[in-house]
Amino acid sequence: MHEFSIVENILERALAIAVEHGHLPVSRVRVAIGALQQVEPEVLEFAFQAAVQGTLAEDAAFEWRAVPARIACAACDAQFEPEDLFWVCPECAAAGGRVLAGDELVLESVVLDET
Ligand SMILES: [Zn+2]
Repeated sequence: MHEFSIVENILERALAIAVEHGHLPVSRVRVAIGALQQVEPEVLEFAFQAAVQGTLAEDAAFEWRAVPARIACAACDAQFEPEDLFWVCPECAAAGGRVLAGDELVLESVVLDET
């Protein structure tokens, strides 16, 4: 499942940070989810909660932020937010374009428990 491999990746990086800081437990993990990723945040969180068992991130809270998609029209360069998977420029009705935002799925921050 897509979400589980994403979580594995995110968790790996969060744990690497925790280890770098002397094996501190992770108290919070925050990710940015681009709309073009077609990921269900609830599924991602479920996968996260399952994956952290027995790790330094076992008690970590999972937070996420949705990043809306932003497309630049290939014909007229107008920027717009597509309503679905078919990108049609609202200015000139050309199809397709360049992705400016919304295809990311990144680990934004990791908070370690320093107490
Ligand atoms: Zn256009």
